[in-house]
Amino acid sequence: MNAVTQDMMKKFSVNQHVTSFIDGNSVSPSGSGEDIPVISPITEGQISLLREASIDEVDHAVRNARDAFENGPWRHMSVDERKAIMLQIRDVIAANADELAYLESLNAGLTLNYVKGFHVKRAGWNFEFFAEVASQASGEAYTQTQPYLSVVTREPIGVGALIGPWNAPLALCSMKVASCIAFGNTCVLKPSEFTPLSLRRVVELIHETDIPKGVVNLVNGRGHVTGDALVSHPEVDVVSFTGGTKTGAMIAARAGEGLKPVGLELGGKSANIITATADMDRALDGAILGIYSNNGQQCLAGSRILVERSIADELIEKFVARSKKIKVGDPMDGATEIGPVCYRAHMDRVLSFVDIAKNDGGELLTGGSRDSRHETGLYLEPTAVMAKSNDAQVCQEEIFGPFATFLTYDDIDEALAIANASEFGLVGYIWSDHLPTVMKASQEMRAGTIWVNTPMTRELRAPFGGYKKSGIGRDSAKDCLQFFTEEKTTTIPMSTFPLAKWGASD
Ligand code: NAD
Repeated sequence: MNAVTQDMMKKFSVNQHVTSFIDGNSVSPSGSGEDIPVISPITEGQISLLREASIDEVDHAVRNARDAFENGPWRHMSVDERKAIMLQIRDVIAANADELAYLESLNAGLTLNYVKGFHVKRAGWNFEFFAEVASQASGEAYTQTQPYLSVVTREPIGVGALIGPWNAPLALCSMKVASCIAFGNTCVLKPSEFTPLSLRRVVELIHETDIPKGVVNLVNGRGHVTGDALVSHPEVDVVSFTGGTKTGAMIAARAGEGLKPVGLELGGKSANIITATADMDRALDGAILGIYSNNGQQCLAGSRILVERSIADELIEKFVARSKKIKVGDPMDGATEIGPVCYRAHMDRVLSFVDIAKNDGGELLTGGSRDSRHETGLYLEPTAVMAKSNDAQVCQEEIFGPFATFLTYDDIDEALAIANASEFGLVGYIWSDHLPTVMKASQEMRAGTIWVNTPMTRELRAPFGGYKKSGIGRDSAKDCLQFFTEEKTTTIPMSTFPLAKWGASD
């Protein structure tokens, strides 16, 4: 552990027990429930204990959210009053950026600079952005069926169950909370049991603002215990989930039992197509960022890199040389480019794909092991394999680590066929200076977002979400408004026309 980490540890304390936060109060760890160690991937040492919320505790959280929704002031406030509180939340996040970045880095292993410069900023921005969306939302009016005026208004849907993953807790779950409460809803958030620290602190900080109690509640625990109790609770009106595809299917089935709308942001195995007309240097930078950013743990990774055969040797050689020089290390060290992967079982799974690749006829190009320069911590060498074909398991399964898979192709039709031969469809990348090729890729890749000559970048106003097994629904200004509100049509006659008088005559 480097000096920066040690300084940070002295500066910011970590709660010994991470508990739930319900109705504006921290739940005492004295009650029943299992204790689950919270581990830092930097050292593999225990940094806290998570007190898992039981079914009863989840029930308590949901009932408080329900009570706050039905009887509290939040949904009745003017949009401007709610917006003022959302902006207070933005400010309190900014004021505590160092601590939040530290907790995220310590717990999830993400590099401190990246978390502070991107995830924490995005967390604050989410509250500002959705406050603005709510404040600009408008309804509809129809007058075509005379003499009626029909107006369509939107109302909050109720209590949201918000469940998130461990790879970017702050950035992703803050978006769920912000987009849910902006429209007048209340919520219960369940972060991943692997990374509870930063979000627990965010929910505490949210309660330093004027937000009414019960609007934002948090429960901590594992998916099959706390998460399942939350999704299946009868007082939950809507479920927003980001995580793995198998979990998403289970949650959709559970939510379906209660006919609850469900939004699913799931996994990916996205194609990154690099053509011979591309600016090679930029494509190389983009391919490296596309797979290794966020310690290689991102749904939108360009994890299947498809290179046109005529440039493949040169590009792959450069990619391998750069991979070997990437700085893997303590995420709190400013020079680090890739930190540790999040937890041990995940690291073992990522590494298992090296043998899987070889057994499928693939060739290990670089990496493939733990980084031997670190005595402790879950550090992996940036890894790349050349697959024999797109049918190989490493081309079909999401590995979710610093693990790139290469394939070559001869023409754009072949590349697009390979890109689409996947059960996922989250994003697609195309690197080309030939406009017709770009347009063809944009039209034919079956994925929710296409990035042209750029590594991943999120435009919050535009829809983000997956085709096929990458999800159901989209996140965006408009989509979140639709997801977290109910539409209501009110029809009013504009003149007092005569009504038939049934039963009025003798
Ligand atoms: P995961 O599915 O294992 O867990 C996600 C969350 O679901 C956790 O909070 C977990 O506790 C909870 N959960 C698990 N089982 C549950 C159940 N039966 N009922 C209710 N909740 C349950 O996913 P993960 O390993 O935390 O995250 C990695 C996955 O997330 C990857 O597949 C990645 O692609 C995906 N992801 C997708 C996006 C996106 O926007 N599409 C973004 C980030 C991550």
